[in-house]
Amino acid sequence: MNRTKISFTFRQKHDLKQKQNKNFITFANMKEYRLDNWLPTTKKEVEIRGWDYLDVILFTGDAYVDHPSFGTAVLGRVLEAKGLRVAIVPQPDWRGDFRDFKKLGRPRLFFGVSAGAMDSMINHYTANKRLRSDDAYTPDRRPGMRPDYPSIVYTKILKELYPDVPVVLGGIEASMRRLTHYDYWQDRLRPSILMDSPADLLIYGMGELPISSLVERMVAGEPFNKITNIKQTAYLANEKITVEADDVKLYSFEECLDDKLKQAKNYRHIEQESNKIHANRIIQYVENKTIVVNPPYPPMTEEQLDGSFDLPYTRLPHPKYKNKIIPAYEAIKFSVNIHRGCFGGCSFCAISAHQGKFIASRSKESILKEVKAITEMADFKGTLSDLGGPSANMYKMHGKDISRCEDCKLASCVDPVICDNLDIDHAPLLDLYHAVDKIKGIKHSFIGSGIRYDLVMHRNEDNKRNIASSQYIEEVIAKHVSGRLKIAPENTSSNVLRLMRKPSFKLFYKFKKLFEQLNEKNGLRQQLIPYFISSHPGCTEVDMAELAIETKNLHFHLEQIQDFTPTPMTNSTTMYYTGFNPYTLEKVYTAKDKESKLAQRQYFFWYQYQYRDDIIRSLSKLKRRDLIDRLFFDPKSSSKNRTEKKNRISREDMNFEKGKRGFSKENKKDFRKKEFHSKNKKYRKNK
Ligand code: SF4
Repeated sequence: MNRTKISFTFRQKHDLKQKQNKNFITFANMKEYRLDNWLPTTKKEVEIRGWDYLDVILFTGDAYVDHPSFGTAVLGRVLEAKGLRVAIVPQPDWRGDFRDFKKLGRPRLFFGVSAGAMDSMINHYTANKRLRSDDAYTPDRRPGMRPDYPSIVYTKILKELYPDVPVVLGGIEASMRRLTHYDYWQDRLRPSILMDSPADLLIYGMGELPISSLVERMVAGEPFNKITNIKQTAYLANEKITVEADDVKLYSFEECLDDKLKQAKNYRHIEQESNKIHANRIIQYVENKTIVVNPPYPPMTEEQLDGSFDLPYTRLPHPKYKNKIIPAYEAIKFSVNIHRGCFGGCSFCAISAHQGKFIASRSKESILKEVKAITEMADFKGTLSDLGGPSANMYKMHGKDISRCEDCKLASCVDPVICDNLDIDHAPLLDLYHAVDKIKGIKHSFIGSGIRYDLVMHRNEDNKRNIASSQYIEEVIAKHVSGRLKIAPENTSSNVLRLMRKPSFKLFYKFKKLFEQLNEKNGLRQQLIPYFISSHPGCTEVDMAELAIETKNLHFHLEQIQDFTPTPMTNSTTMYYTGFNPYTLEKVYTAKDKESKLAQRQYFFWYQYQYRDDIIRSLSKLKRRDLIDRLFFDPKSSSKNRTEKKNRISREDMNFEKGKRGFSKENKKDFRKKEFHSKNKKYRKNK
């Protein structure tokens, strides 16, 4: 093997960042890396390793970042640790002569395909279905480096070139589309992605355990097409298979197409089976075929999770990207993931369907090892941007009586009330923060992940737990917040929050009070930044007006806001598409067209002049003058001012109702513009 080690002094490293030796690359990092510290991406890199064949070739829609937050890198490292020869082809060109798909030839075992760390449609389009101009998972944000639905496109190309080589599909796009799902971008119900993608097997959720089992059985000589019972995998059977006693049989794709209620009923089973420790196999017929979804693995043990995070990642993008910025990498470069899974069960979130409801936590030792590795990075200035996971404060939390959890099929451990079996103990997290802060080179360790304030505020029977919760939130505010603490009440309406499976807004008031008290106690002036969503199923314009009033009274000018996007396979998306709550089968209203969505969104910006008139008109139409009064009149202002303001608004409303729109300077301008365009249109038409 041709290996020449090139060493650099600390100063030289900075000068040599741009230079690329034939076989070796250096980085602005205290460590030295050889090109073969990354998994190979080209024929040349395969040769540098002295390999004359490959076992597995992984194709991904993202750039190759060798970091435990990037799924393809993780699976590549897992397979490498099993002694296999693995290569990664990031962002292959799917147009032209398919040379990226041919350059490494055929692997001995299988091809792996992933669309990337995000569903490609969320990556490509905004909530309003407008094409995005950049891609956070691509060097220098360059757009157009992956097709829509790479899970389908890449697999079709591979099957065309190598029909006899198995293709295994993974990643969040495939995972969340494993059964019949609503596709917002095509605005239609689609069958399992296995009907469109010719992949032989689909791995859903986090892939370490299923892919390990697959290669072990293949290496032992089992033929690929006989391996159909690995947990956390799905496959398409070319006939209608017999349903067994323990199977959960869903309504077929065709039945769901005909009746939305059936799709809603299906969803409940899908979610329950994703959240059980001992789940059942799911069967769904499509045409004359069957989609079989094997149950998920139980949550990973600490040892298994440490095994995945402790693999020899360089934690860096592949050298071929040189100094190009990959925003998704920059965002997590100095952050550490401490656990997987989430028991919050928020309706709009895909995490539990992908990672599960039960928390799998890393050991303290494994986390500290990763923190130390970060401190050795030359561009690390002492600030960890996040010590978190899907949520910040679920580390090591679990049920008190595990046997109760083993029989549980609830989607959330905290909604509608916090389960009396949930052990809310913040002590392990505090212990971890203390240990991280003692590491040489750490000046600050911030918590960037969202904090579940319902867990912090919950009063437990065991007072020790309450003391730990109080200490936890005080330490977070005093030491682990970079000036702004982001939390996610998401809405203020009780009905919407119930559908979202989020706690009552009353709790937010309590938390805000506590936050202010702790700030005062510690001589700080931290800001609380709340997240909100508009147009979520169940949310009406009146709810949004109430949200605007509540947040106005709390003196917030909102910035962290978003329009609801119905991503595949969530409870909220099912309500959006079917119009039913899958659990109660009650009908749910959703704002779907552009106008009603914008009408809801504008309440986030009620304080901006350009939205005020529209809001007033809208609320007048809804005959909710009381909301106009509460939103636009300061109860503390003099009665003269209020009367003047009211009269002006009344005049405007009257004019609006009579169809005279020219009441304010801005509207006059607008009106003239519209008048000009409509006259022009008529003129052109007559001509
Ligand atoms: S029993 Fe309680 S703690 Fe256990 S999984 Fe169910 S809801 Fe969660």
